[in-house]
Order: sequence, then C-alpha cells, then structure tokens
Amino acid sequence: MGFRDNIRRVVPYTPGEQPKERVIKLNTNECPYPPSPEVIKAMKELDWERLRLYPDPLMADFTESLAEYYGVKPSQVFGGTGSDDVLSMCFLTFFAGDKPVLFPDITYSFYDVWANVYRIPYETKKLDENFRIVPSDYYAENGGIVLANPNAPTGIGESLSVIEDIIDHNRDSVVIVDEAYIDFGAESALALIDKYENLIVVRTMSKSRALAGMRLGYCFGSEDLIKYLNDVKYSVNSYTLSIPAIAAGAAAIKDKEYFEETVSRIKKTREWTAKKLEDLGFSFFRSDTNFIFAKPPVGFLAVSIFDELKKHGIYVRHFGKERISDHLRITIGTDEEMETFIDTLKVIMEGN
Ligand code: PMP
Repeated sequence: MGFRDNIRRVVPYTPGEQPKERVIKLNTNECPYPPSPEVIKAMKELDWERLRLYPDPLMADFTESLAEYYGVKPSQVFGGTGSDDVLSMCFLTFFAGDKPVLFPDITYSFYDVWANVYRIPYETKKLDENFRIVPSDYYAENGGIVLANPNAPTGIGESLSVIEDIIDHNRDSVVIVDEAYIDFGAESALALIDKYENLIVVRTMSKSRALAGMRLGYCFGSEDLIKYLNDVKYSVNSYTLSIPAIAAGAAAIKDKEYFEETVSRIKKTREWTAKKLEDLGFSFFRSDTNFIFAKPPVGFLAVSIFDELKKHGIYVRHFGKERISDHLRITIGTDEEMETFIDTLKVIMEGN
C-alpha cells in the first residue's frame, strides 16, 4: 500500500539510441540529408520576438500547406509533434470501445505501448511467413485497426487493394493507416479518404522531409474524424506545435522539388545497398522504405554483427523480439556512409 498504488506504471517504448559522438547512424530511419533550404531560410527569417506569444492552436500555416499540396480540405488535416503524437491522439480518440483493436504481431513497436497506457484491449494478428498481412485476419469483430504501410521494421508495402479490402470490411471501426514511409514506396491510402469515413492516414515529416528534430507529424481523415481528434487534443494539450515548428513545416511542404530530389537519392542508394547486401549473402524482401530489413547468411548472428558494427562506430537496429531477432534493420544513409557500412561489414564477416 502507499502512493505507488495510484501510479500508472507501464512498459515504455524503447527509442533507438541517439549517440552524442559522431557515428554513422543507420538506426532510427532519419534522413541523411538536411531539410530543404527553404526551411533554413524560414528559420532565419522568423520573428523570434513572437515567441512570447502562444502559437496558433489550429497550426493553420502548416495544415493549409498540407491541404493545398495533397488536394484535401484544411478541415481534413490534423497536426502534431511527430506522428507519434498524432498516432497517440488517434489511439486515445478512436479506440475507446471494449472490443480489441487489431494490428500485426510484427509492426511498429509503439502500438502495443499506447494500447497499454490508454488501457485499450488489443489482439495481434500474425504476419505470414513472408511478413505479409493476411487480410481475412482483419474481418473479425474489433474496436479498431492500425496498420503501418509500408510496414516497419519489415520495410514491406502492401498493395492499395489489400488495404482497401481491410477498410471495406471494417466500416464499423476506425482504420488507421500509418504511412510514415510512404514516400519511399507503396501506394497511399490518401486516395480513399473521401470514399471511407472510417479511414485515417497518418504521415510524418521525420523521414522524407528530413525534420525528425523539429517533431512534426499529421494525418488526413473525414472532417468528422478530424473534429473528434481536435476535441481530444484540446482536452489534453492545445498548443502542440511551436511557432518555429509550424513555420518549418509549412516551408518544407512547399518545396516540392527538393523533397522529390531527396527521396529519389535515397531510393537510388537503397538499390545500391540492396545489391551489395545480396552479394554478401544477406536475404531480405524488397524494401518500400528508407531502410532494409535483412537477415545475415547462415553462420552469422544478427546480434553479433550489430555489436561488431557498433564497435566500428556504425549503428544499426536489432530487435530482440521473437521471429525477427535474426534480422538487422539498416537505415539508408548517404552513398559514402553506405560504402563505409558495406566495407566494414565485409571486414567483420571475413574475420568471423
Ligand atoms: N510510425 C512508424 C511506422 C515509425 O517507424 C515511426 C518512426 N519511429 C513513427 C511512426 C514515428 O515517427 P515520428 O514521431 O518521428 O513522426
């Protein structure tokens, strides 16, 4: 007995390491290139004296830029401090029933953490042996569905018809599609936003827009669902995005050319890296993201390679979880970083 009985105790999400020293950082799927020069310019030109005021709770400059870029109404957009914040608000808002929320057994490891912290019942559905979603698993009665497409940490994108089939079979629940990596592959469910009232599409500025440090995420949905989200947001923390974040977000969205160039560079480096990993005997499915989820050849342990790479100042991600502990998740860095990574990998594997 005592004060501890009144404390909410949870098993937290484990974020990837952010080492202070200079390392080759291929462990948290950040963008290896800087944000758009338009973002830097917007920061330099910001009226910093305005920081004495609260920011716009509607974050209109950001949401309106998104609405214009993606061809939706501003009232169909909701923003937050990273897509983690947006997803967390979605869990709190849309998963308030008694039936279990469904998501795959191998997916973004924050979903079960939010379900636990908000006391949401949930059930995981096993991906098949090729790490693919089995749509019929999601025909069961449920209190909501969340799917990452492309999925993480597998890197695999499902076709839009698979995603639509699941949305279509679940008109009585909210289906959240987490599209953190959509700019690197797979087809977006955004095209379905006016067709299905129960659909939410979540995106981030952390990967393809190179703004992980600014913390910016957003989602699209019907005006109705976005209103419910805003009602909950205003009941928790009304001013989520800071004045600099709103300005940076708007500037990044407007620079289409820089965005497209950055994404295409990363995809090119991904294909080069995939070829080299294949030559070294790694096995993996084609990636639709800015990382490759690869299994070392027979005779090599993923966790040992992870440790050795770290000794060489190269950080990748290893998950000790069942079914995937024999894999490494490798973020795509610059060409130079990936060359060093491959060269180091060769040295480690030769010395085995
Ligand atoms: N969804 C998925 C699938 C992710 O991998 C990540 C990155 N960890 C996020 C959401 C959250 O990213 P952020 O909060 O930086 O937008």
